[in-house]
Amino acid sequence: MQTERINQLDQRLANQIAAGEVVERPASVVKELLENALDADASRVEIDLVSGGVKLLRVRDNGTGIHPEDLNLALARHATSKIHTPEDLAAIETLGFRGEALASIASISRLTLTTNISDSASEGWCVRVTGADMAAEITPAPHPRGTTVEVADLFFNTPARRKFLRTERTEYLKVEEVVRKVSLSHPAVTFLLNHNGKTTRQYVGDDEQLRVASVFGHAFLENAIFFSEERGGLELRGWIGLPTYSRSQADQQFFFVNGRVIRDKVITHAIKQGYADVLYHGRNPVYCLFLGINPALVDVNVHPTKHEVRFRESRDVHDFIFRTIHRVLADVRPDDATLVQGAESQSPMQVPMRQTPISFGQRPSSLGLREPTTAAYREMFARDPESPGPSLPASREGEETTMPPLGFAVAQLHGIYILAENANGLVLVDMHAAHERITYEHMKTACDAEGIRSQPILVPLSIAVSEKEADIVDDQGDELNQLGIGLERASEESVIVRAVPTLLAKSDVEQLVRDVLSDFAEFGASQRIAQHRDEILSTMACHGSVRANRKLSIPEMNALLRDMEETERSGQCNHGRPTWCELNLSELDSLFLRGR
Ligand code: ADP
Ligand code: MG
Repeated sequence: MQTERINQLDQRLANQIAAGEVVERPASVVKELLENALDADASRVEIDLVSGGVKLLRVRDNGTGIHPEDLNLALARHATSKIHTPEDLAAIETLGFRGEALASIASISRLTLTTNISDSASEGWCVRVTGADMAAEITPAPHPRGTTVEVADLFFNTPARRKFLRTERTEYLKVEEVVRKVSLSHPAVTFLLNHNGKTTRQYVGDDEQLRVASVFGHAFLENAIFFSEERGGLELRGWIGLPTYSRSQADQQFFFVNGRVIRDKVITHAIKQGYADVLYHGRNPVYCLFLGINPALVDVNVHPTKHEVRFRESRDVHDFIFRTIHRVLADVRPDDATLVQGAESQSPMQVPMRQTPISFGQRPSSLGLREPTTAAYREMFARDPESPGPSLPASREGEETTMPPLGFAVAQLHGIYILAENANGLVLVDMHAAHERITYEHMKTACDAEGIRSQPILVPLSIAVSEKEADIVDDQGDELNQLGIGLERASEESVIVRAVPTLLAKSDVEQLVRDVLSDFAEFGASQRIAQHRDEILSTMACHGSVRANRKLSIPEMNALLRDMEETERSGQCNHGRPTWCELNLSELDSLFLRGR
C-alpha cells in the first residue's frame, strides 16, 4: 500500500471534530451558551427554542457583551478571554475556559452572534462565520447591552449526529433539565425558557431557597434538611431530602462544585454512604448540594463537556461529605419526618348496604353496547394487548342497547371508589381491589396458557438482596422465568433484573422482585412453588394494580367496569373482600323514607 500523505485539516473540519465531543444535542448547546452568559455576569437570560431547539435555539443575555475588536476571535477555536497563562488553568473560576464552544457550535450549525458592550441600544455588531476557513464576517447590528447567540439548523451538515436526535419533546426536556441545573447555582439570575413561542419555565431571580423551591417543588423543602458546614477549606451547603422522601430513581440529585454541576463517582459514593444507615437498599435520596473548594485543589479540565472534575485530595473530599451528611441525618428527630397519617375514620352515616355483592353466575359478555376501552386506560394499566384479556365487541347495528350489569360510571369518589349508575340503582366499586383481581385473573389465564409474557426492562436494574435470596435466583431461575421475571445473580448479595411480566411493566420493579423473592424464600423448594403459584401471582398482581388516589376519567372507569364484567371472580379482590356493591332503588327509597 502506498503511504498516504498528511494534510492539515481545514478549520471547519477541525472544529466539527471538536464539536463531536461537546455538542451531542440542543441541550449541550444551551449549556455552553448559558455558561457564557453567566461568565459575562448576566442577570437575565432568555432562551427561545423552536422544535426542541433543533430548528432554532436562541440565548439572549444582558451581560457585559464582547468588545468589537474581539469579534473576529469570538467564533474561533482556542480563543478565550477567561484564561491567559498556564497558571490560570490551574485555578479556574469561570464556567468556561476551553475557548472552543462557540467555534464548535458554529461549525455544525448556522450561528450568528450579536453583541453590544455599550448602553446605547442603537449600537452593536453581528458576527457569523463562512467557508471552510470559518472566516468571520462582521456587520453592524443594533442590540441592547449584552449578547444574543442564535443557532439555527443544528447538525445540518453532520447527518450522523442529526440521526441520533430524539423527538422534539425529548430534546426539549433535555434542555429544560439543563436550565433547571444551571439555574440552581445562579439563583439571583432570572431565567426564561420559551418553546415554540410559549413560555415553559420561568425562574425569577431570587434567593437560593426560593430557587430550590421553584425547581424541585415546595414538597422537597418541606421534606429536606438545610445545612451548611465548613471544614479544612471545604464548604458543603444545601438541602438533603429526608430518608422518607427517597425515590426509586436517582433522578433528583444535583451536586455543584464551585457553581458547576458535575457528576462524580467519589461524591455519589460519599453521599450514598452518608445515607446508608437510614435508607433501604435501592432507594435514592434527593439532594441539592453545593461544594465550595479552592479552585487550585480541583481540576476541571478533565472532560470537554466539563461534567467531570478531579479532586487533588479526593479522599478528604469524600470523608468530609460522608461525615457531614451522616451527622446531619443522625440529628433528624422523628417529628421532622412527615408521617401524618389520620386515624381510620368511621363514616358518620350508616348506609344499609347489601353486604354480599352480586356474583356473576354467567359471564355477561353477551350484553350489548360497550363503551370503548380508551388507549389511555390501556396505557395506564399496562395491559399486554396480546394477553387473553377482554375483547371489545363492537355494538352491532340493530342490536338492542342494554345497560351493562355494572352500569356506567358517573364519578370517582375520593380517588378510591367509582360511582356508577346501572339499571337497578347505583353501584360502588373499589377500583384498586377490582383492578387487582382483574390483573390476577389475567395472569393466571396467561400462566395456564403459554406462560406469562415478559418484556426486557430498558435499563437492567441491580438490587441488593440477602445471600439466601440471591441463591434462589441461582437455584430457581426457571420457575422465576415462568412467572415472567428475568433475574441474574450479579454477586454474593445482589441480583440484576432483566425482564418483568409485560402486564406489570409499569409497576415498581424492585419492590415486585423483592416480594416475589420473599415468597420464594417462604415457600422453599421448586415443587412447592408450583403449589403456591396462585399466591405468588396474587402478590404480583397487587403490584400491577391501579393505586388509590389515581384520577380516572369516565371512559377509563367504564373500561374497568366492562373488564370486571368479563373477568371471573371479579366480585372479590384477591384478599376476599368485595370489589363492588349495589344499592338498588328500593333500598335508596327506604333510606329516604320514600314510599313508592
Ligand atoms: P470559553 O467560554 O471557553 O472562553 P467560548 O467559545 O464559549 O469559550 O466563548 C469564547 C469567548 O467569547 C469567551 O471567552 C468570551 O470572551 C466570549 N463570549 C462568548 N459568549 C459570550 C457572552 N454571552 N457574553 C460575553 N462574552 C461572550
Ligand atoms: Mg464558553
